[in-house]
Amino acid sequence: MRLVLLLFLSSLFLFAELTTVKIGVLAKRGESITHTRWDATAEYLSKQIEGHHFEIIALGFDAMKQSVAKGDIDFVLTNSVYYVDLEYHYGISRIATLINRDHGSMELTRFGGVLFTQADNETIHELADIKGKRFAAVDPLSFGGWIMAQYELQKIDIYDEDLQLTFYGSHDKVVQAVIDGEADIGTVRSDTLERMLEEDQISMDRFRIIDQRPQRDFPYISSTTLYPEWPFSKLPHTSRLLANDVLTTLLTMPKESRAANDAHIAGWTIPLDYNSVHQVLKELKLSPYDQPDKITLTEFYHTYKTQLWALGVLFITTIVIIIYVLRLNSTISSLNINLERRVKERTRKVEELLEEEKEHSELVDAILNSQKNIVLLSDGIILLRANQAILDISGFDSLGALTTAHRCICELFLKEDGYIYDFKDKNWLEYIMEHPELEHKAKMNDQRSGQVRVYLIKSASFAIEHHDLFIITLTDISELESAYRLISDRAVKDELTGIYNRRKLHEVIDLEFNRAHHNGSTFSIVMFDIDDFKLINDTYGHAAGDYVLKSISKIVSAHIRHSDTLARWGGEEFMILTPIMDLKNAYEKAEKLRILIALYPFEKVGQITCSFGVAEYHEGLEKHALLKTVDSRLYKAKESGKNKVVAE
Ligand code: GH3
Ligand code: MG
Ligand code: MG
Repeated sequence: MRLVLLLFLSSLFLFAELTTVKIGVLAKRGESITHTRWDATAEYLSKQIEGHHFEIIALGFDAMKQSVAKGDIDFVLTNSVYYVDLEYHYGISRIATLINRDHGSMELTRFGGVLFTQADNETIHELADIKGKRFAAVDPLSFGGWIMAQYELQKIDIYDEDLQLTFYGSHDKVVQAVIDGEADIGTVRSDTLERMLEEDQISMDRFRIIDQRPQRDFPYISSTTLYPEWPFSKLPHTSRLLANDVLTTLLTMPKESRAANDAHIAGWTIPLDYNSVHQVLKELKLSPYDQPDKITLTEFYHTYKTQLWALGVLFITTIVIIIYVLRLNSTISSLNINLERRVKERTRKVEELLEEEKEHSELVDAILNSQKNIVLLSDGIILLRANQAILDISGFDSLGALTTAHRCICELFLKEDGYIYDFKDKNWLEYIMEHPELEHKAKMNDQRSGQVRVYLIKSASFAIEHHDLFIITLTDISELESAYRLISDRAVKDELTGIYNRRKLHEVIDLEFNRAHHNGSTFSIVMFDIDDFKLINDTYGHAAGDYVLKSISKIVSAHIRHSDTLARWGGEEFMILTPIMDLKNAYEKAEKLRILIALYPFEKVGQITCSFGVAEYHEGLEKHALLKTVDSRLYKAKESGKNKVVAE
């Protein structure tokens, strides 16, 4: 009883001392097959390494990743591709590489992939022919059963999308798919066909190998480069001492041991270089190289050197511009303050000047408006100032309204010979200034009374700051003008009839003599006398006689040319001077007048006749001789019965 208790306690103690070591194995063909293959290895290790109990944990891809991440296991046995991924992500490190068992005596640490079609396939002879074909592979993560072939195809630019790709899950099924004609071509790891042949599942003459490569010291058919076999790895947390023990134990595993037999391996060797696997995964951008390339700062600089420099220059330029703009802004704002101050000062001065100007202006207006005369200030063309007098006569409210309606003040002047008006071809003011010796007068309508007023124009010029200005005064001389006209009329006109008197006609005859003498032209004179005028006076009274004198003056005036001059020569005698008219035409003219008068019905008096004498000027003829000739011809007309024209 004491012995049993001792054994129980010692066994408890024994088990309590054992440390469990977990080996995670990729269960590529299911959990039970995994245990069948690898449990013997765990037992072998447990037996060889004291104090440790090794266990096989069969794991799928995802479960293995999780176990490694959590540190639930201590060692990992997986394919080369997955090893590389876990090494990269979780820092597992290989301690040994599996030696595959050849059917002969060769120990194989590398393997490859093989591509094959049915032997009678006529369309696929080389890799390039695979494009577009039905392609059978094992699994997206199977190294020998897909990735190696994928790498070879990508080298000649055939990508996944160029194939009708199907994954069959196992190497045997891929072979079967090609046999059954479900796929045109298949890929499996390099020893598959030979194994199936050995198991009598296939016969090799049914297949044609594509791109077969001769490999030294490698007994299997291969279409790809060879890569290292599965590694045995430790996790980062696994102790180095334990790893050393495991490695030593694996390296010394006898080829004939049950562990080796069950695992179908020849044993283990020191770890191979897995760089070639890294290289394949990098090229195919598979995990762990499925992320965009990480780029170092130096690489980044070398790749984007030009752009970085351009950005740098742009950045510096922007900073410089910003600094410049900021400084400019501050300069501008200080200038603005300065400017604002100066503008205010200037505005104040201008306002003062305007105020002063306004006072001056009011003074000037007061002076101008105190004048009865019209006073204008002009720069020679434009009317600058004027007093109220011009507005009164023109009827405008303001100078602005006046200058808007009339460009020139001269537009208000009436057009009449002897007076200033809008000459069009010459500035009226210039004309006045050029002829100070003449008396310049202008007529304007007085809009208030409707009368025509006559103005005497005087102008004086002066300069202000190099500008010529003209001050113009228009003095109303309408009354003076009419008085003057009356006086001058009295001197030259007959009071009763209003036609020229004998004195004026003498002047006209003298002028005409001169003109004819100088020009070589001619003229005629017509003299006529009312027949039996004394009788009219005696019969109807002196007033009736006056009426007849006035009526005859009107009739004749209305029927002679503008250039002809009619005058009362004396009593009831008249004279007409007809320039540039010869004797014949003057006779005809006189004849018309004679008939006109003879037919005219004079009031109360009835019919009246006149007798006419006509004479023409000749070169060398004296004035008194001409007058004598015409007088004698009138006498002749009287003598020969009156109411006649005598021209010879
Ligand atoms: P004859 O046909 O020959 O010319 O005869 P006559 O009567 O016309 O001529 P006469 O010389 O005899 O008479 C002229 C008259 O004219 C005399 C004079 O009284 C009249 N007379 C002269 N001046 C005026 C005047 O201003 N008014 C009026 N009513 N009569 C005047
Ligand atoms: Mg008479
Ligand atoms: Mg007479």
